[in-house]
Amino acid sequence: MEKMLARAKARLKEEDYRITRQREEILQKLIEQSGCHPTAEEIYESVKNSHPELGLATVYRTLRVLEDLDLVERLSVGKGPAKYEFSASNIPPHLHLVCVSCTKVQEVQCPHIVRMEEFVGSSWKFEISERSVIFFGLCDKCLQGKGSD
Ligand SMILES: [Zn+2]
Ligand SMILES: [Zn+2]
Repeated sequence: MEKMLARAKARLKEEDYRITRQREEILQKLIEQSGCHPTAEEIYESVKNSHPELGLATVYRTLRVLEDLDLVERLSVGKGPAKYEFSASNIPPHLHLVCVSCTKVQEVQCPHIVRMEEFVGSSWKFEISERSVIFFGLCDKCLQGKGSD
C-alpha cells in the first residue's frame, strides 16, 4: 500500500502537481478503500475528521486531477453519484457489476477477462492499457425484492 502511494505521488510530481497533504490524504483513503468504490461524498466523510479544513469541493477537484492522471477510475452508476476507485497497473483486471436499483457496485475477478484481453491483443494487435468493464443490472438483493412484490 505504501508502494502504491509512493508511485501515485511520483506520478503527480512528474506532471508538476504539488503534493499537498490533502491530495495525499485523499489518495491514501482511495487506496485503503480499494474495492469499496466510494463516492466523493464518502471519501469526504472519511477524511473530514482528520482534515476539517478539507471541503467537498476540494475532494471533487482532487478526484478530477487524479482521474486525469489515470490514478483514479470514475465509475458512472446511472442515477446515483459516481463512484471512484484507485487504479494501478498492478490491480488485477476485474469487471464491475452495477445495480441500477440500489447502485451497489460489485467486483468480479473473472479469468475470462484475462482471456478476452489476450484474444483482443492477438486478433486485433491491440495493446490494452486500461480497462473499464461495467455490467448494469439488478443485484441479487434487489432481484429478491422484486420477486416479493
Ligand atoms: Zn473495482
Ligand atoms: Zn441492488
